Amino acid sequence: MSVERHVYFFGNGRADGSAAMRDILGGKGAGLAEMANLGLPVPPGFTLSAKLCIAYLEDGTFPPALRAEVDRHLKHLERVTKKGFGDAKNPLLVSVRSGAAVSMPGMMETILNLGLNDRTVEGLIAGSKNPRFAYDSYRRFVMMYGDVVYDIGKASFEEELDKAKARRKVKRDIDLPADDLHDLVHDFKTIVKKRTGHPFPDDPQEQLWGAIEAVFKSWHTKRAKDYRQVMTNAQGEDVVSGARTPESIQKMKRGKLAKIYRELDRLATKLEKHFKDVQDVEFTFEHGQLYMLQTRRAQRTGMAAVRTAVEMVDEGLITEDEAIQRVPPQDLDQLFHPMVDPKASITVLAKGLPASPGAATGEVVFDADEAEALKKKGHDVILVRPETSPEDYHGIVAARAILTARGGMTSHAAVVARGMGKTCVVGAQALDVDPAAGRFRVNGRAVKRGQVITVDGTTGRVILGAAKLVTPKAGKEYARLMSWADAKRRMRVRANADIPADARRAREFGAEGIGLCRTEHMFFEGDRITLMREMIVATDEAGRRKALAKLLPIQRRDFEGIFEVMDGLPVTIRLLDPPLHEFLPHTREEIAALAKHAKVPAAQLERLIDSLREANPMLGHRGCRLGITYPEITEMQAQAIFEAAGHVAGKGKKVTVEIMVPLVADVRELVNQTQIIHKVAQEVFHREGRAVPYLIGTMIELPRAAVTADDIAKEAEFFSFGTNDLTQTTFGLSRDDAGRFLPFYVEHGLLSEDPFQVLDQDGVGKLIEMAVKLGRNTRRDLKVGICGEHGGEPSSVKFCHRTGMNYVSCSPFRVPIARLAAAQAALEEAGVVSRTRATV
Ligand code: PEP
Ligand code: MG
Repeated sequence: MSVERHVYFFGNGRADGSAAMRDILGGKGAGLAEMANLGLPVPPGFTLSAKLCIAYLEDGTFPPALRAEVDRHLKHLERVTKKGFGDAKNPLLVSVRSGAAVSMPGMMETILNLGLNDRTVEGLIAGSKNPRFAYDSYRRFVMMYGDVVYDIGKASFEEELDKAKARRKVKRDIDLPADDLHDLVHDFKTIVKKRTGHPFPDDPQEQLWGAIEAVFKSWHTKRAKDYRQVMTNAQGEDVVSGARTPESIQKMKRGKLAKIYRELDRLATKLEKHFKDVQDVEFTFEHGQLYMLQTRRAQRTGMAAVRTAVEMVDEGLITEDEAIQRVPPQDLDQLFHPMVDPKASITVLAKGLPASPGAATGEVVFDADEAEALKKKGHDVILVRPETSPEDYHGIVAARAILTARGGMTSHAAVVARGMGKTCVVGAQALDVDPAAGRFRVNGRAVKRGQVITVDGTTGRVILGAAKLVTPKAGKEYARLMSWADAKRRMRVRANADIPADARRAREFGAEGIGLCRTEHMFFEGDRITLMREMIVATDEAGRRKALAKLLPIQRRDFEGIFEVMDGLPVTIRLLDPPLHEFLPHTREEIAALAKHAKVPAAQLERLIDSLREANPMLGHRGCRLGITYPEITEMQAQAIFEAAGHVAGKGKKVTVEIMVPLVADVRELVNQTQIIHKVAQEVFHREGRAVPYLIGTMIELPRAAVTADDIAKEAEFFSFGTNDLTQTTFGLSRDDAGRFLPFYVEHGLLSEDPFQVLDQDGVGKLIEMAVKLGRNTRRDLKVGICGEHGGEPSSVKFCHRTGMNYVSCSPFRVPIARLAAAQAALEEAGVVSRTRATV
């Protein structure tokens, strides 16, 4: 009978596990095992399996055989270290550290210096010949234990510490002499006794088991839960609470530590070569001996991810294909963060450390809960704190940027924000932050809660008011990586763009066409809305045609602009989609103005507006239903498109026109609209003496369209999946109202993701697969794409690749993400697997 193993040893040149056992050993345990196997100096120890932790969290007890298993490993540890656990002369001290398969740095708990008591501290003094060090370790241990195991927080301990410093008239902990630290140990133990009713445990065994249980339980702390909820798809980051930026490692190069530096450099290079990825290592040294404490895939900004991947190709460590697979597509987002316009005139309040790049503007808040509450109400907020701790995590998530007065480049705020790609400035020391008073003072000014500031995480500047922001250009490494990716992908990437300026930006991001031009956006602007309203309130066809005739030249101009910018790349123009009532005036003044303009009595207009109001506008008089009931709208739009195409073609430019009919449920609707479009095309081509090629297709955004796609493909020359509506109608979830309860679903695991952000491959995806198959049964060369929001989300893009789509279309900013994701999908399909080891 095999007994389940719970404990895994590492150290002394060997380990029971390896990097591949991340699920059992957690990231930290797997990294330590791998380093031990590689012969790197790691302090010996053992790992309790993650399975054990799960079982403990479920039933609150340990398996009966565990104590003996731990004892055995402890004995082994004593032999290897030549020290004794609880030995007064030569004590073995241990750290109880947390780890998990998913990186959740700093979110769970850790206890250091365990095994200290009034007897063993004497041994530590004798061994180190440094009573100050020994008592400092001891008082830290009692505080950590009190905080983690007994959950009594750090505040009361810190108060005692502050009092001790005040008595000595010193500012820094390090200036307290050994005697004071000795007394503090006693004071700290008294705090524990007072708060828990029990004396502080002196027995190292009791300390150990208390610590193990507490570290296991820390899986359920609020911050760990928040972290897992938000970070499931994002990078983990080391949440370091250090209030100081560490010394640059380069400083070790010279002087006393030069030898250790050389050894560290050698081992770090060895690890990087072994894992074929940049590593984030933790180390320590004692009596001139270097110990590696942790290694894992280095957390990095999007820019750094791109750069390291490209440089590793140049160094021959990885191939171009591996570089493509190495960069998480979503991280590219960070490359295009806005920055403060260098030409803008600004008032700089202070300068801190540029902890996470980008720039953001928002209202100042001083509290994480408030940041979260205001964000929910749609405010942009900047979280300003003296310094942040993991308890502020939800506030950091909610804020546009984070600003702290204290803390360094490795402080909590800095590393958390960097991992999220969120703008952050830390250590702006001129700031005197007073959360209780709701203000910060800086250089003679006071900035109050609610006031707007701009945080520039690229330079570290804190700016008064809303500075003008511009978007930067990505570097040459980015261009190289993208050129490799573009050569690998099969799918094309287009952009959703409604106006020439968006089309221009889309091309800059590498879009190869426009997959969705929402023409209604052209009607909302400026005085166009008045003409649109005139069309809607017209009581007969003649009146509507009169108003539409005024809209025609405006639409034509817009289309000309887009065709010019796209210069021969395909442009998919969608016919009018939203319900008519969206164009109608809302306020009394607006109604009165329209009544005057259209020369109809206000009362009559109000009745008309009432009659157009719908209970479910998302399922109402929209999409092709408009063009079917008011064919003159489709006629006008088709005329504007063909005339514009003809004019641009007349200038010697190539134009590729695709006209798309929205919200089709039945092929007869599409036939109705294509007949109108073909008729108008013939008229325009005849009149202008020039024909342009065009395609007519449809959006597949209703389940009925998906299941009758074979019929629809008889008429449609292309399909574009409108997955926003298809998600809405498949789930029966209103796009407008789902926000009230969807987050609850995601929080409680009823849905793993918001299906409006990440394509629901099991449900909506099945309809898509079916529609692609049915459509291509009818028309083998049917062009198929997607233009819903999912077209820029990596996992959805990969799904689109697998279903055989020709292209994805997304907002201009997400075009690079889609390009990279499409390349990764092609590599995955070809079975090109990254050689990177399971990095930890
Ligand atoms: C869609 O439904 O996915 C789509 C792209 O159209 P819209 O969002 O304009 O309804
Ligand atoms: Mg739609």
